[in-house]
This record gives sequence, C-alpha cells and structure tokens, in this order.
Amino acid sequence: MTVTPEKAYEELIEKYREITILGTCNALLGWDERTYMPKAGTEGRSKQVALLSGIAHEKFTSPRIGELLSIIEGSSLIADSISDEAVNAREIRRNYDKAVKLPKDLVEELARVTSLAQSVWTEAREKSDFSLFLPKLKEVIDLKFRQAEAYGYQKEPYDALIDDYEPNTTSDDISEVFGKLRNELVPLVKAIGESGKRPDTSIVENDFPVDLQQKFGAEVSTAIGFDYEGGRLDVSTHPFTTTIGPGDVRITTRYNPKHLNQALFGTLHEAGHGMYEQGMPQEHFGTPLAEYVSLGIHESQSRMWENSVGRNLPFWNYFYPKAQEIFPSLKNAKLDDFFFAINKVEPSLIRVEADEVTYNLHILLRFEIERDLFAGKIKAEDLPAVWNEKFKDYFGIVPPNDTQGCMQDIHWSSGYFGYFATYALGNLYASQFFAKAKEDIPDLEDRFASGDFSGLKDWLHKNIHSQGKRYRAGDLVEKVTGKPLSHEAMMTYLKSKFSTLYGI
Ligand code: ZN
Repeated sequence: MTVTPEKAYEELIEKYREITILGTCNALLGWDERTYMPKAGTEGRSKQVALLSGIAHEKFTSPRIGELLSIIEGSSLIADSISDEAVNAREIRRNYDKAVKLPKDLVEELARVTSLAQSVWTEAREKSDFSLFLPKLKEVIDLKFRQAEAYGYQKEPYDALIDDYEPNTTSDDISEVFGKLRNELVPLVKAIGESGKRPDTSIVENDFPVDLQQKFGAEVSTAIGFDYEGGRLDVSTHPFTTTIGPGDVRITTRYNPKHLNQALFGTLHEAGHGMYEQGMPQEHFGTPLAEYVSLGIHESQSRMWENSVGRNLPFWNYFYPKAQEIFPSLKNAKLDDFFFAINKVEPSLIRVEADEVTYNLHILLRFEIERDLFAGKIKAEDLPAVWNEKFKDYFGIVPPNDTQGCMQDIHWSSGYFGYFATYALGNLYASQFFAKAKEDIPDLEDRFASGDFSGLKDWLHKNIHSQGKRYRAGDLVEKVTGKPLSHEAMMTYLKSKFSTLYGI
C-alpha cells in the first residue's frame, strides 16, 4: 500500500511525538533522582531509566521511520527548506541516521562503562589519584573512538563527537574563532592582573541566610520572565534545567549561606535556560520545531541573563536597593563596591567558579586537549602533565593536585567529549545576540534600570525561542545578527567593562 507524503508526515510526527514523550518521562525520573530521591533508590532508578531509553531507542530506530522519511523526502512537501515539514523531516533524518549508525552493543557498553567510570572518578577525585581513574578513562576514550568511527567524519574523529552537542560544527570552525578569542583574551587577563586593583569581595562573602536568598532569587527570576505557572525552582548539588512537558520546565540551584553569588547567578543562569524551553512553540511540542538548536545556543540564553544582564549596572540600579532591603549584610555596602565585588577577575583553578573573563580560558584549554587526544597526539596517561603545562601557560598557575586539575569535571567520566566547547560558544553567541538586541532596542538597558526586562525577553522569544530548530546554529546567528559567529562582540564587551572596572 502506498502512502501519500502527507500521510507519511502525519505518521512520522505521531511516532516522533511518542518518542519525545518517552524522553520526557525519563526527564522526570532524572529530575527526581537529582532533587528528592532517596540515595538508596539509585539502582532501581537506573533500571527504570535504562528500560525507557531502550524502548525509545528501539521505537526510533525502527525501519518504518526510515521508510516514512524517504517518502517525505522524495516529495514536494519539503520544497521550502524552512517550512515546518522540511525542518522536522531534516532534523528527524539527522537524528535517525545517527541513531541507526550506532550498534546496540556500543550503546549499551557506553552506558555501562560511563556509569562505572563516574563512580571510579568520584573516588579517584576524593583521593586525588589519577592512576585510579586512568583504566576506566581509557575504556571510555576507546568507546568514544568507536562511536566516532560509527558516526563517520570528514576530517577527524573529534568532529563526530562535537556534532552530538553542536550540530554541523567542526573542530576547525571552533578553532578558528577560539584562536582569535585567545589572542585578545590572554592580554586582557594579564592587564587585569597587573592593574593592582582588587575588589573587596567580603561584601558578597558574608551572611546570606538561605531563606532570604530564596526570596530574592524568586524575585529576580520572576522579574526577568521565568514563568512559575509553568515551572518550578528546586535545590540540587549540580544546578540544571529540564523540560518535563509543555507547561512544566524545572530549574534548580544551590545555596551557600556564606556567599551570595552562587545561588543568585546560578538561578539567573538556569532561569535563562528555562525561559528558552518555556518559549518553545507549544503547538509543535514533541517535534524538532520545539527543540533547542544546540547546546551552544542553549548556553547563550543562560549566559545572557546571568552575565550580559545580571552582572551589569542597569540590572543592579534596579535590584540593589531591593537586595539591601532583603539582606542586612548589604545595608552599608555601596553599589559601586558591590558591583566590583561581583565582577572580580582572577585566574583560578576551578572552571565552574571562574569569572566572566577567565572562564573562557578554561574552555580553550579543554578544547585543545580533547582535540589532541582524539587526533592521537596525546594519550590518556599524558592528561595530568599536559593539563598542568597548559594551565601554567594560560593562567600562570599550576594545580597542586589532579582533583583541582584534570579530574575536576564530570564530563570525561561521562563520555562527554566535545561538550566543553559549547560553553564558550554559548558566551560568544550570547554577546553577539545581546549586542544586536541593544541595537534593535536602544533603550533596552534603560528599561532594565526601571525593572522592565520584557524588551529582551520578547526579542529573544521572537528571534530565538519561538524558532525551535528551524535554523541551524550558524544560520540562526547570521539571520538574527547579520554576521557569522565571531569573538568580536564578546571582546568588545569584556574590554569595555573590565577596563573601566580595573582602570586599564
Ligand atoms: Zn548552562
């Protein structure tokens, strides 16, 4: 029986929606695991998650999906390359081809080995003993090489891995923009270090009772536009955002009663991710038209609210008096001093604690190491030495141990090679989008200063959130900003802000 392209499309979307719904059931299990589940539930939960993932994978790799795609692809239904049908078919094809290329035993082996590697990593990290982690890390790397071979690539295996996180972007693309970034960033960090000016950070390292931080966090996240009718904020060790379904986007944060920054900027960050998810076109839920473009684009949304908005004066002109009302410890601190304190720049060992300027160096270092690793230029056993050498180069300091060095992040034990670059790409996208938003809305920041953030939220919604996966990252940036991704907007922003703060 032949099926018309229209019918084929209908069936494809119905099937894909079902797979998405299975994925969101898994997301709910994952959210629960990381927030409220009792520790002893781990094993049972991993079985639930594995079962659901297996069912979803089986459904998605069914040959019927391939048949339906072929019928649609050979028809006029996709003549316009950015129509709903064409976009959904293009993206489902991409995911389908990737999924069927991975042999089942490799998928299972990756899940098994990375789960073990994470617990070995936790122990090795506690003992600061890289040799304990090395055998499992080698296994993970071997499997990632196999995965890259299964996917296929044009130039280097690392490209195939990056493609899982930042689709259609190669290590050459990233190297080009990162290289230019490095050339301007390294001298800026040096000049800041040599300026001799230092903020008084005791202003933000004081008593900040958790209940007051919760109150303030709810106020700022609501003001910027995170919708609590369709979302919630909970506590977890590692903050994250997850979508359970239309009208249910959940974010988390963590509180430090002796430091204001962590929960505050963490909440702004996750609220930015959450607003992207909440802004997806609901009528397309369960299809690529309601999915994020790439991890880099997702990160641009969180970084914009956290940094471009939350670490700048217009935001604090409005919120500082409110913060002073809520937190007794801020009563006598001047806005200028507070502002300098939340913008301290200093080379430091740990990525997740790094400031807006040096953060990107942490990413450049990881990207270079991973690229060399998958080009066969370095081996797993070389990682601590290579890490420390590069660290000295970039930051002028050497980690005292591997826990604060090459074992600090969970990514490698999880098999997330190719992921790190998306953090810095996110910063670059954020700066370029924000510069354009300011150009389009000249009083954008004046409105921040009076507590009105709707201008930016609406701009993001129109240009980015409501588009889902209609445009690929590179095309989206060009379409929205009129130019390809570059380091320029971020460097212009960083230089202008930090030369004022540090008098350089
Ligand atoms: Zn993020």
